Amino acid sequence: MIGAAGVLAGAAWTLSITAATAGGAPAAYGTPSGTESTIGSAGGGDQYYPMAGNGGIDAQHYDLDLSYTPEKYLPKAIRDQYHLLKGEHLGRIEGTATVAIRATQPLTRFDLDLSSTLHVRSVTINGHAVAYAHRADGELVITPQRLIAAGTRVSVAVAYGAIIRRPPVVNGFSTGLIPTADGVVLSAEPTGAPTWFPCNDLPHDKATYAFNLTVPRGLVGVSNGLPVGKRTTGNTTAYQWRTNDPMAPYLAEIAVGNYRIITRSAMGVPIYDYIDRDIPSGRQRKIDAVLAKVPQMMRYLSGQFGPYPFSSYGHIVDKDLQAGASMENQTRTLLMTDEADEATVAHELTHQWFGDQVALGQWRDIWLNESLATWGEWLWRHHSTTDHESLAASYREAVRDMSGSWQTVVTDPGADDLFSDAVYARGGAMLYRLDRLIGDSAMSTILHQWVSMRRRQPASTAQFVTLATRVSGRDLSGLFEPWLFQPGKPRGA
Ligand SMILES: [Zn+2]
Repeated sequence: MIGAAGVLAGAAWTLSITAATAGGAPAAYGTPSGTESTIGSAGGGDQYYPMAGNGGIDAQHYDLDLSYTPEKYLPKAIRDQYHLLKGEHLGRIEGTATVAIRATQPLTRFDLDLSSTLHVRSVTINGHAVAYAHRADGELVITPQRLIAAGTRVSVAVAYGAIIRRPPVVNGFSTGLIPTADGVVLSAEPTGAPTWFPCNDLPHDKATYAFNLTVPRGLVGVSNGLPVGKRTTGNTTAYQWRTNDPMAPYLAEIAVGNYRIITRSAMGVPIYDYIDRDIPSGRQRKIDAVLAKVPQMMRYLSGQFGPYPFSSYGHIVDKDLQAGASMENQTRTLLMTDEADEATVAHELTHQWFGDQVALGQWRDIWLNESLATWGEWLWRHHSTTDHESLAASYREAVRDMSGSWQTVVTDPGADDLFSDAVYARGGAMLYRLDRLIGDSAMSTILHQWVSMRRRQPASTAQFVTLATRVSGRDLSGLFEPWLFQPGKPRGA
């Protein structure tokens, strides 16, 4: 039974008066029928990040009402308390996240993921205060006043805030909210979403989002999806954003800065670019020239993979993020200023189909995101130059880049090597070999079908192999086995 929002009752449990009386527990907790546990597990079942995500809940919608205060707007007394590293900045995030969740089992307790660097002030369910414990490992353990029946939807509001500083480095990159001199940006893949909002941090638990982002007047607040409102009151401006295309937590973005806005469109899709005004003008012109090609890229890649999947697109380019990792946040890519080239822009745009629309079931299958984004990068290079040998050249360069890292298995790189060359270069090289083997037309059919078949359900390597085998009508194990499943350099590479 699916309960209406705001109703905590259901039919999947029976009240056990005896147990309640004997144990002294409030009768309203009830006891579920059968032997099923009523405690949602603390982890979501990912092999690499077992504590990410949670059992027993399915996130449906996030309403994030947050304010962000950059370092220079904070009282001096606060700033003086911190010994910052060179180039490090502070910021303050405050607000309330209201998460609509659906119970996938009867629940007397469940968790959300929220970094322990954030301080929780209160938790309510459907407006009523409930007990919670915020553990040092980032689990926010919530105990409703009575059992939530399976299938019921409830609204969990978490009020929280903290002074934040640069997040820890994961896989070589700062993962989480990154305070800048005049604002903040965020790079959350794979597990940085809980550094800014309570969530069910799984790559395949998608939800819709509404953002209300309040920033000092004069700065711009950016998020995913469509801008739907802006209101200035006193010294602050609130920016409203709306994402109706379901989105995984790690792809949600927040950025605050001194941005200039450039608006374009392609095939009816509005493109909003936010470029830091403090980037030197020569560099700004180069970035503008690259971003001006995005409508062409979008048209071309739509021909390769199927219609662009979302209702908007665009980029955030911040002066304080020069190098590191550009990130394919859904509908709003974070682009490093030193990486604002056509290859990177095509790569992140390709991710909108592969990674953002087609979501991973497990992080170990990250090659499905990165190899296909690499393939999109190569296709664009091939299309946009007169060099008919460019695909072969991209392949040769990838094989050259792999020297020394052939031992990593593409389909199981390990959590510490999630962004290794194997998942980009080796996986991309495999796709080139597949394309040569079965032809452009079959390859394009596979990619179109991959998107249309997997866009609502998480994707796995086995599903890709099955699809490619069916579309091509061939036994492809001689290709997939050495390239995807075995360590070592494949013969003939
Ligand atoms: Zn990528």
